[in-house]
Amino acid sequence: MTPKQFQNAVLKWFDKHGRKDLPWQQSINPYRVWVSEIMLQQTQVSAVIPYFERFMQSFPTLESLATAPLDKVLAHWSGLGYYARARNLHKCAQTVLQEHGGEFPQDVEALTELSGIGRSTAGAIASISMGLRAPILDGNVKRVLARFHAVEGWPGQSAVANQLWELAETYTPDKRVNDYTQVMMDLGATLCTRSKPRCEECPLKKSCVAHAQGNPQDYPGKKPRKEKPVRSATLLLLEYQGEIYLEQRPDSGIWGGLWCPPQAEDAKAWLKQQRWRASEIQTLPLLRHTFTHFHLDITPLWVQLDKVSTQVAESGAGWYKLRQLNRARAAQELGLPAPIVKLAKQLLALQAPLLAPTTAD
Ligand code: SF4
Repeated sequence: MTPKQFQNAVLKWFDKHGRKDLPWQQSINPYRVWVSEIMLQQTQVSAVIPYFERFMQSFPTLESLATAPLDKVLAHWSGLGYYARARNLHKCAQTVLQEHGGEFPQDVEALTELSGIGRSTAGAIASISMGLRAPILDGNVKRVLARFHAVEGWPGQSAVANQLWELAETYTPDKRVNDYTQVMMDLGATLCTRSKPRCEECPLKKSCVAHAQGNPQDYPGKKPRKEKPVRSATLLLLEYQGEIYLEQRPDSGIWGGLWCPPQAEDAKAWLKQQRWRASEIQTLPLLRHTFTHFHLDITPLWVQLDKVSTQVAESGAGWYKLRQLNRARAAQELGLPAPIVKLAKQLLALQAPLLAPTTAD
């Protein structure tokens, strides 16, 4: 198959089967495409759609995002995970506003200099929203090309990645580059899927080497297995009259900028410093949360307070009704990591006989 034949085959398939009604495919502009591309990293289309729509309602323009408080942006990201994406998004919006007059640069290399935009995301923004001939190589495209040419090896190795980028470059057309980018992502997401590729329906079937070999699942090569390290943390679930104390974490590090119970190895020393008094301290079951590069074993200590020195929330810390945490997160008023919501639910379950239901909840 020549590049031209490859392009014709996939574009013909796009005209008939490609996705054309996704929210970011409407009113296309670099801002909307960029936000969708960042959200779609590590996250499936169906999960992204409601987040994207709410995000666009609250931040309809790049300027509205750049001038919003980071806390509000993180609250809108709450539940999507990989929060560095949201912090980079905010930072990038500010850079584009301050250094590029509010317009994304019309150049792939300049795009990659912005926070959180890698070569593939830059290619997607440039091709879909600007019509520039720019290849992309996200996870879906890597899979299609690795199978089509039976490229051996794990794409995390630069030699393999370079080979795939060369192929991506070769097949990217001069015309209809926006549809081409979309169809390559669609093919990987809907037909050439990780575990059950539907080769019979694929427009590339006739020339696909992995299909001919009968082993598409072997491509792309897997990352050599390495055990993830385990880190541990103790979280103080400080509870007073049905409310829990949360602090905003520093911008850098895990859960940067999100709201969490304080982390401290020695609960008694921490309480002493605050001049708070506990009536009971109970260790709850260990909770493991897995990040990309490590496991975090959380030891939750349920600290029931019978005296606190102040009920007034300081900036960066405050008391929140346990019953309302999940709702605040769903309403995107408070950026909370998923394990903290889980722990809050556990606390509520433990307290069920103690707390009388209130109509306000
Ligand atoms: S023929 Fe099968 S393995 Fe090859 S690109 Fe199409 S779906 Fe993927």
